[in-house]
Amino acid sequence: SWNEVPLAPPDSIFKLTAAFKADQFPQKVNLGVGAYRDNEDKPWVLPVVKKATSVLLNDPNLDHEYLPITGLPEFTSGAAKLILGSDSPAIQEGRVTSVQTISGTGANHLGALFLSRFYHFSPEGGRKVWLSDPTWVNHFAIFGNVQIEPVTYPYYDPQTIGLAFKPFLDTLRNAPSKSVFLLHACAHNPTGVDPTRDQWKEICDVILEKGHYAFFDCAYQGFASGDLDNDAWAVRYFVSRSVPLLVCQSFAKNAGLYGERIGALHVVAPTTEAAARVKSQLSVLSRSEISNPPAHGARLVSLILNNPELFNDWKRDIETMANRIIEMRRELHRSLTEELKTPGNWDHIINQIGMFSFTGLNAEQSKAMVEKAHIYMTGNGRISMSGLNTHNIRYVAESLDKVVRG
Ligand code: PMP
Repeated sequence: SWNEVPLAPPDSIFKLTAAFKADQFPQKVNLGVGAYRDNEDKPWVLPVVKKATSVLLNDPNLDHEYLPITGLPEFTSGAAKLILGSDSPAIQEGRVTSVQTISGTGANHLGALFLSRFYHFSPEGGRKVWLSDPTWVNHFAIFGNVQIEPVTYPYYDPQTIGLAFKPFLDTLRNAPSKSVFLLHACAHNPTGVDPTRDQWKEICDVILEKGHYAFFDCAYQGFASGDLDNDAWAVRYFVSRSVPLLVCQSFAKNAGLYGERIGALHVVAPTTEAAARVKSQLSVLSRSEISNPPAHGARLVSLILNNPELFNDWKRDIETMANRIIEMRRELHRSLTEELKTPGNWDHIINQIGMFSFTGLNAEQSKAMVEKAHIYMTGNGRISMSGLNTHNIRYVAESLDKVVRG
């Protein structure tokens, strides 16, 4: 009768969304969601996705057979080029293994499961993964599920509302050799704080020196700067310096395919032969968990990645999303600093990158935003920039101003 099963608390983000939906206040704003919204606060089906869908619908040969265990080959090869570069030597040398996954979450899980089975964790370090403090909360559960203990490295400095670079480097240096470090490839969730290129280079130096393994999570390629190549810079740089690594890739945000669950795991191996061995094991693991990945999202993304015209359309759609978010950052910053003269420094709003921003509001202030202003945000002060639009930004700025003034 399951009496012994403890009741689990509801997921905090989904709880926030439910509270938002139930709220009758006309000016309510949802800054909790991790999904893109257009200026009318509506989900946005990318025009390129509509085009690709109609191509699929008109394909007389389309069937519903199983995909191969490791996914649609044209999708996985296109996805590898997207993140590693179309001229990537690692791909040309046959050292990259790519497997289709259940979006970014599935890629993280499969990557974690693979490490759990096959990574040589040092006796000194133990079965641990180093996560940024803070990180996407699901990382803790994903690694815990496969008996890898999550521990954290300093990442965010509340004093500067920026990167805690020195403590981060010190932790990299002091961690036992061959530790696994999870790195957000771009547009860090939840802080919006990314290392600069020079900082990435130093991080890479230490990782190489210590023989650490880099577990890249890339859920926002294109979303950070509006440019797919630019946002892949850190991953490509690490590959060029032969850091042992894997990359988890999601098409949820950059293609607006949240519900299609389309993603990939790429493992960059030292040799072609090692890549083949890794692939054989990933295939065994995937088989036992999902047998075969879902086809629809893979077909859509494959069309977009492999057809130059659709690929160009996609880049334009990504720019549309990224630019709207950048515009909202500028506008919020302008309202706070120029119009309202809100106390404090707000430059982090324009310096941070991607979908999310850490406002610097504390738990009490964040709670006041929800309870007094009906502006829904998480208790850590994070806001989703895509919840802002030209209709609500003034109200959000005024409410922030009030909360900060206390
Ligand atoms: N990693 C990070 C850092 C994320 O923010 C997300 C989405 N919230 C994911 C992975 C996975 O998302 P999905 O499974 O929807 O691709």
